[in-house]
Amino acid sequence: MATENRTATEAHGCVVCGKVHTLLVVYSPSGQLLDCAVMSGDGRRVYDPRRPLVACNRHTQAEIDTALARKAARDREDAEREARGGE
Ligand SMILES: [Zn+2]
Repeated sequence: MATENRTATEAHGCVVCGKVHTLLVVYSPSGQLLDCAVMSGDGRRVYDPRRPLVACNRHTQAEIDTALARKAARDREDAEREARGGE
């Protein structure tokens, strides 16, 4: 059983435009997200306690907020569809 934090390099798409950025992500031994850093020079971290999210530097905070709200609505719809047994 692992007792040390795990560091992984992951590729994640920008929440606004989908451009792929490279992130260095740190997980606890139980798999919980602890921290992440954007390795790409033109990207920055978007704070989310559950998963690593990234956005390009050129997007405004308003654009990012809109994209996140849309993403949250989509996640909710997916969860509801699953709760109904899939369609
Ligand atoms: Zn972008």
